[in-house]
Amino acid sequence: MHNADTPPGQIVWAGLALTAATEPVRSNYALYVQEGRIADAGAYHELTARYPAAPQVGGAHLLLMPGLVNSHDHGRGLSGVALGVPDDLLEIWLLGLATLPTLDPRLLAQLEGVLLLRSGVTATAHSHNPATWANLPAECEPTLAGYRDAGIRVAFHPPYVDQNSLIYTGQAEFLASLPPSLRPIAESWMQPPPLSREDYFTLCTQLYNRFHDPLHHTVHIQISPAGGPWCSDELMLAARDWAVPRRTRVQIHLLETRYQALYARRRWGSSFVAHLDSLGLLGPWLTLAHMVWSDPDDVERLRAAKTAVAHNPSSNLRLRSGVAPIAAYLAAGLPLGIGMDGYTLDDDQDYLRELRLAWTLANRPGASSPTVPASAILQMGLAGGAAVTFGPEVPLGHLHPGALADLVLLDWRAVEGIWAAPNANPLDLLLRRASRTHVLHVLAAGRWVVRDGHATTLDETALKNNLHDLLATQPPPKTARLQAEIAHLAPAIRHFYSTWDRENDVNSDLR
Ligand SMILES: [Zn+2]
Repeated sequence: MHNADTPPGQIVWAGLALTAATEPVRSNYALYVQEGRIADAGAYHELTARYPAAPQVGGAHLLLMPGLVNSHDHGRGLSGVALGVPDDLLEIWLLGLATLPTLDPRLLAQLEGVLLLRSGVTATAHSHNPATWANLPAECEPTLAGYRDAGIRVAFHPPYVDQNSLIYTGQAEFLASLPPSLRPIAESWMQPPPLSREDYFTLCTQLYNRFHDPLHHTVHIQISPAGGPWCSDELMLAARDWAVPRRTRVQIHLLETRYQALYARRRWGSSFVAHLDSLGLLGPWLTLAHMVWSDPDDVERLRAAKTAVAHNPSSNLRLRSGVAPIAAYLAAGLPLGIGMDGYTLDDDQDYLRELRLAWTLANRPGASSPTVPASAILQMGLAGGAAVTFGPEVPLGHLHPGALADLVLLDWRAVEGIWAAPNANPLDLLLRRASRTHVLHVLAAGRWVVRDGHATTLDETALKNNLHDLLATQPPPKTARLQAEIAHLAPAIRHFYSTWDRENDVNSDLR
């Protein structure tokens, strides 16, 4: 009942409600939301009787569900393809990031936040790709401000690398394969970032002390040695020792491509996961993005250490990495989330469509392949994803009393279309048919951030026009030289790794 000491709440209701991915869908269900939390829940007629004066948002034609969680991303706002970075092998595509135009990071985070909210995502992971490594410290705070302006939660982890910038291993062999004129160019791409490890950890500590919010979970500050081959053991260990006592998380890209799995075999004669395990670098505080090229022994190690995986199905297709073995991860009970990585199939950051792709790819050919139900995938986008992204203690991804009231109302009548039979599974319909066009209202961190399909926190049209004008009036790109260098290096990198393709001692299938 309403307590005189707390401000009045509101009722949010729908003809159909999904309170958690693992629970049956309920009819005519309502929540009583107060101060950003779900204070009460029950049948619509019961809640209206208990809180007769409460304002209401909802409708019989809507589906009510928890806000979605984007477990791995870079918050680029703008499309890489449109900015002249074509899809390619990850190892080649990465070079193109250096050619992206320098724009106000606050504007990009504002746009990213609005795009995500309008697709039903109320919490996102952000691994920050700075314009230059030297610029990383200056870009973090404006990025956090941009997400705050949009009204979305963020698990923010600045990345860092300290080795193997251009090629994972065999640098001398690679350089020897190049024409002499190309060698100094390749060497310049092999330089470590001009940001010391000490400065990186100082940055993370300052951000953590100022912005980490363990009470309302609007911002979590985490740490990110960016990816397996690019980070020394010492860096990984220091990241663990930074994160664990602060009760925050580490997020790393791992085993995104087969070449990363082969790098581990060459370097240590073992799998990457076995190597991390031997150093005490697996644990429940760790989230591994991608994980396309694991083997069964890796899965057992991850299970034993309760290590989490953030699955990126679109990005793994677009950057030609492969399809992650999600059915095996589900069977092992790994903590799992789904992230868009800034590279969805339609280049539009539509999280509901990303769930559709994840579900479709998880069901593999063959009668002996397990059937992955829609609920298992949806769990990865809801409570499972929240645990992977913010930690299992954070009450997100479900609509139970006490949870943070991040929620989405979808136009369910439009999702159903002409007719949905009484025995049609609503979760199957949701994953097979829904997209951002069906997202009508979104409540995140105590605010209605989307109403009738439009962001309420920022003027999206003005924001897009502003970015268009900034790009149109930019001086000629300083990156023409870099683009020319990439054009020369790309065929050499492709040829170099093609020689690794002949090694079929590990993961020889092209998954
Ligand atoms: Zn990524």
